[in-house]
Amino acid sequence: SKKNGRNGYSFYFDELQTDSQRVLLLDSELRKAIDEREFELYFQPKIEMDNEQIQGLEALVRWNSESLGFVSPAEFIPYAEETGLIIPLSEIIIEKACEAVIKLQQFGLKIPIAINISSIHFKQSNFLESVQVILERYNTPANNFEIEVTERTVMNSATETVSKLVRLKQLGFKISIDDFGTGYSSLSYLVRFPLDCLKIDRSFIQHITSLDEKQAVVDAIIQMSHRLKMKVVAEGVEQAQQVDILRKMNCDIIQGYYYSKPLPLDELLEFIEFWEIEHQG
Ligand code: C2E
Ligand code: CA
Ligand code: CA
Ligand code: CA
Repeated sequence: SKKNGRNGYSFYFDELQTDSQRVLLLDSELRKAIDEREFELYFQPKIEMDNEQIQGLEALVRWNSESLGFVSPAEFIPYAEETGLIIPLSEIIIEKACEAVIKLQQFGLKIPIAINISSIHFKQSNFLESVQVILERYNTPANNFEIEVTERTVMNSATETVSKLVRLKQLGFKISIDDFGTGYSSLSYLVRFPLDCLKIDRSFIQHITSLDEKQAVVDAIIQMSHRLKMKVVAEGVEQAQQVDILRKMNCDIIQGYYYSKPLPLDELLEFIEFWEIEHQG
């Protein structure tokens, strides 16, 4: 009816208004949060299939804003990228990752931490220098870290990208391609770039137990990666059945809720202690 239509319209209008208010609030709160370093890193273990050891940790940023409450990185990272705020945010994340490496060392643990690097930061001409300055300030060598970049980040501007990746490797960083399979279809960069790991996107893992096509694709990615001397990480693994299939396919490393959600550092230390008792020798 007409009445509903008008209600519908005004509802839509209200929603628009709420959306733009939210963006304004997000903008001012994000700037404030960056000034006050109001972020925390959570860490998700990556489990090596051969020896059941914790091969590494992925750092994932968390923001519990005073006025907005918990905001997902899926919302504020893209906004930070649009506005350029990702650069100071990314530097805070790297600093916090250094702090975590030092904390882990105090507990006698040397587990590499993977940091997600936004393409906007990676493409800055002073990206390498900005990372090096932070690592030197914390006196934490690069071999404590892995860099996760998406396919999209490394696809274009090839020569500059290659030289940046080569220099990162020379400094001691490991390099992983994140969300593999969701970007463009060209695979030529896999040969040109000095890559250590491919992370197969969760969208391929999700239906691996029911869809033969997904299984075929994952199997092919694993075989190709091994021939190119790369390790394979399966992301978003939630079920024992998925672990079984991936193990049979010789997947090297598994990450997902099946083993652990991302955890704050104190809970991570408890997880590691528990894990090491369960998987000794
Ligand atoms: P991503 O790098 O692909 O991170 C994996 C996401 O999957 C994380 O979501 C993680 O919590 C979630 N996840 C892990 N295991 C499972 C699982 O078994 N099932 C399901 N359903 N999800 C799982 P999160 O932390 O919300 O991050 C979302 C995205 O935001 C990340 O995707 C990444 O693109 C971005 N992001 C997060 N932290 C950072 C950061 O510190 N820097 C940058 N530049 N981006 C970040
Ligand atoms: Ca990632
Ligand atoms: Ca991913
Ligand atoms: Ca193996």
